[in-house]
Amino acid sequence: MKKIKEISVEDFEIVLEIQDDDIELHALIAIHNTSNGPALGGIRAYSYNSFGDALQDVLRLSKGMTYKSAIANIPTGGGKSVILKKKNQKLSKELLWSFAETVNSLNGKYICAEDIGISTKEIDIIAEKTKYVVGLDREGGSGDPSYYTAYGVFLSILETAKFLWNSSSLKGKKIAIQGLGYVGLKLAKLLFWQQASLIVSDINKEVTNFAKRYLGAQVVSVDEILFADCDILSPCAFGNIFSSKTIPLLNCKAIVGAANNQLETQLDGNLLMDKGILYAPDYLVNAGGLINVYGELLELGYTPQGSREGLNHIPQVLGEIFNISKKENCSTTIVADRIVEKKLFSLTN
Ligand code: NAD
Repeated sequence: MKKIKEISVEDFEIVLEIQDDDIELHALIAIHNTSNGPALGGIRAYSYNSFGDALQDVLRLSKGMTYKSAIANIPTGGGKSVILKKKNQKLSKELLWSFAETVNSLNGKYICAEDIGISTKEIDIIAEKTKYVVGLDREGGSGDPSYYTAYGVFLSILETAKFLWNSSSLKGKKIAIQGLGYVGLKLAKLLFWQQASLIVSDINKEVTNFAKRYLGAQVVSVDEILFADCDILSPCAFGNIFSSKTIPLLNCKAIVGAANNQLETQLDGNLLMDKGILYAPDYLVNAGGLINVYGELLELGYTPQGSREGLNHIPQVLGEIFNISKKENCSTTIVADRIVEKKLFSLTN
């Protein structure tokens, strides 16, 4: 039997735990803030080590979406959900439908989309039971967001180059990419045509072999990539990688990547600044996917051209953050958070 329990978490509007043992459904939906609009955020399906890890993940990601939509100027709020998968569990149709029905029960306060472990295939199944879903792989749907995420990271790298070297030319610049998945590989291809010199790493040999053969990339081990001697480091695998332990060992001039929640704590932004590394805030850099998927909620409907236009907002705001950070000698993370918090304050007061 399906059980839905509300968990009370400070600063969050709604956190739900959904459990139905008959269909192996165990999920969490977290809505952080809807003052900017309905909460929009992906569903992550993952085998967590514990319930606590899953809860921490959904809360962090949900709050991250509040910040991402505010800084990207998209009128949605912050929400996210996770499906706690058992090892090797396949997500059945019944499970996805049941999850969709819980989304329905929130009456549009939460709109779901794809994330790690959920593809457009699962999204299409979810869409059979709820209209509160975006990222559909069909006419009028925005499909795979990673093209736009990768292009947003690419534009951010050009903006970073312009700020650091007064030219957005990447000719000969050494760019290290951690993770050649949906986003990382597309980014690597874009950078190749800008004559950047690529250093890459991934646990999947097939993609690193591809990058070596077709993009002339230097392949390094997964332990080396973060500390590679490079101009720009682009984390495109997972978060929580920059901390007081790893930052002293970095050998880059800037960090511009797609991974969510790259810093262990906000204070790590100060550590990066003290080390002379320019940090492009992750939730702005990787907002391209959100900008794209939001197109489905527009009255006139989704168009690729509209999404392409929307991506220009990313480098524009990034440039402003870099300039304020330099002028006020304040970390880019603090400047970005300040912009968001000012916006949220103006919406609620
Ligand atoms: P993905 O799963 O397709 O790619 C991740 C890649 O990292 C995989 O190729 C994987 O093999 C590799 N990897 C895993 N462990 C590694 C390690 N130790 N060292 C090097 N590589 C390793 O995911 P993605 O869609 O490309 O997203 C990449 C990151 O960007 C994720 O953190 C995701 O949350 C974030 N992000 C993605 C999107 C999007 O549109 N896909 C949007 C916003 C943020």
